[in-house]
Amino acid sequence: MKRWSWFSGGMVLGLLLAAAFGFSQSGQSDPPPPARTTTFAGHPIRPADDKLGVIVFGAHPDDCEIRAGGSAALWSDLGHHVKLVSMTNGDIGHWQMAGGPLALRRNDEVQAAAKILETTTEVLDIHDGELEPTLENRKIMTRLIRQWNADIVIGHRPNDYHPDHRYTGVLMQDCAYMVGVPFLCPDVPHMKKNPVFLYSFDNFKLPSPFRADIVVALDSVIERKIDALATMESQFIEGGANGGPHRVPRNDEERKQAFERLREGFRRRAQQVADYGREKLIELYGEEAGKQVRYAEAFEVCEYGRQPTAAEIRQLFPFLPQK
Ligand SMILES: [Zn+2]
Repeated sequence: MKRWSWFSGGMVLGLLLAAAFGFSQSGQSDPPPPARTTTFAGHPIRPADDKLGVIVFGAHPDDCEIRAGGSAALWSDLGHHVKLVSMTNGDIGHWQMAGGPLALRRNDEVQAAAKILETTTEVLDIHDGELEPTLENRKIMTRLIRQWNADIVIGHRPNDYHPDHRYTGVLMQDCAYMVGVPFLCPDVPHMKKNPVFLYSFDNFKLPSPFRADIVVALDSVIERKIDALATMESQFIEGGANGGPHRVPRNDEERKQAFERLREGFRRRAQQVADYGREKLIELYGEEAGKQVRYAEAFEVCEYGRQPTAAEIRQLFPFLPQK
């Protein structure tokens, strides 16, 4: 009885308030929904225009650049908005240094690369080697994809030697549907159009080898991509977690040779991707041009998220020959 009285009193108060604010019980003049903020505080936002939004997730400060740096340059040259996100701060990725100083150094390296590739680059402050597919991280990634208003989302495949790579892939899969669900993270407006989710290239064979659905010729930007990677001395000159004092150049001549090895290594890697995706290069660029491509990046369409038609793939990758 007492509970009923309290409830009844609440109803009366509600009706009085409704009358005072002019809301009818029929819902004809319901109050507007609460205003939503459009910023995920502290994270860079993209300009609102009709250009494409591309967001690439890599586990460490270098993965986005290795796997999609050339395509990023091609997109940004056409005025599209590319954001590279490192899910961890790279703070154990060196044989000699670790912790905060290494995280700062690696952030400096990828920000220098961002200037060369003309991307927006962000490093999340999660410890290297400790990324987990948690609800908290799923929400972070969901908000970042929404905030960038992404047409394309790129990340690792979820079967990979490195746990951080693996869980970046799992997190991307976990977001592929949730980015469009209005009441998950309602502080950042949900996506009205589901992005296309793509996996970046790897060589792992189980449970299935990489399928080259989209292969991008990099011949016009390969040296620029490598310039960006050459900013990451902690990784590719000093050897990262598995390096050692023997990797550090002792004089100008050794330094010059170390950079030449770096450049040759990344050229070879991009050649291997071109050969792996040769059939698709021929399909996308035509017989003659496709056979001549020397350097490439490749992507596999994730079966979650929007499934693009062949025509839509050319719209999303506007540097491909347009039919
Ligand atoms: Zn990595």
